[in-house]
Amino acid sequence: MDIQVTGVLGLPLIQQGDDLPAMICDRVTFEDGDILVIASSVYSKARGFTRDLAAITPGADAVRIAAKTKEDPRFVQAVLDSSTDILLEYPFILSELPSGHIGVRAGVDHSNVEDGRIIILPPDPMGAAAEVRSAVRRIAGKDVRVIITDTCGRSFRRGQTGIAIGWAGMTAIDDYRGDTDLFGHVLEITEEAVVDEIAAFANFIMGESHQGVPAVVFRNCRAWKGHDMVYFTPEQDVIRTALKSKKD
Ligand code: GDP
Ligand code: MN
Ligand code: MN
Ligand code: MN
Repeated sequence: MDIQVTGVLGLPLIQQGDDLPAMICDRVTFEDGDILVIASSVYSKARGFTRDLAAITPGADAVRIAAKTKEDPRFVQAVLDSSTDILLEYPFILSELPSGHIGVRAGVDHSNVEDGRIIILPPDPMGAAAEVRSAVRRIAGKDVRVIITDTCGRSFRRGQTGIAIGWAGMTAIDDYRGDTDLFGHVLEITEEAVVDEIAAFANFIMGESHQGVPAVVFRNCRAWKGHDMVYFTPEQDVIRTALKSKKD
């Protein structure tokens, strides 16, 4: 139960082509079972998932939506390019990404990047986590678990928290269904979204602005068993259905 949480200090501004796992391994002595949490912003910068606004020509939809949201139409075009399904256009774009993640502005981000550039979320965040995990195994010889995060808003509550957009070496959900509580009741619906809980606390260590801490290591976290079906299917998702019926 004695969990240790450590921000990775001393990383420079990340550039396209940087070997992020190697840079982290230079600063951390990993142990098997550690959970390495990385902000998607730096993963994307290292892998070149950024765009120059000047190189984007907005289409008609982007121009139309940008007039409502009062955003740069080129930024809106980048959001549309990252999206597979638009759930809401106004007061902000809420859309689904190829990974199944649903987020405001498709997670397209202009913080912590040069003026005129934007960061897009890794298109394959599960692959990204797996790639970092095998890189750490290769470089440090340790079997770590990896979570890629982004800071996201929430329904029903103000304030953003970190959530997991990709993970490797663990399941997203700790499935308690069938387990018994302190009084012997069988739990019927409890599925704990463990990756999001860890992502949220990692995000607290990272901060959102100039802290310069894009990676966090958790040591001594228990293992758990469950599944990765963290996204509702469109049929299961009552909120999505309600939003879409409003939009059309
Ligand atoms: P996001 O939540 O994935 O969009 O990432 P943020 O932009 O909120 O940044 C999370 C943390 O990483 C903050 O502490 C930032 O200061 C830090 N960060 C972002 N980019 C860099 C970078 O290129 N180098 C370093 N060292 N830290 C960065
Ligand atoms: Mn950011
Ligand atoms: Mn972000
Ligand atoms: Mn953030």
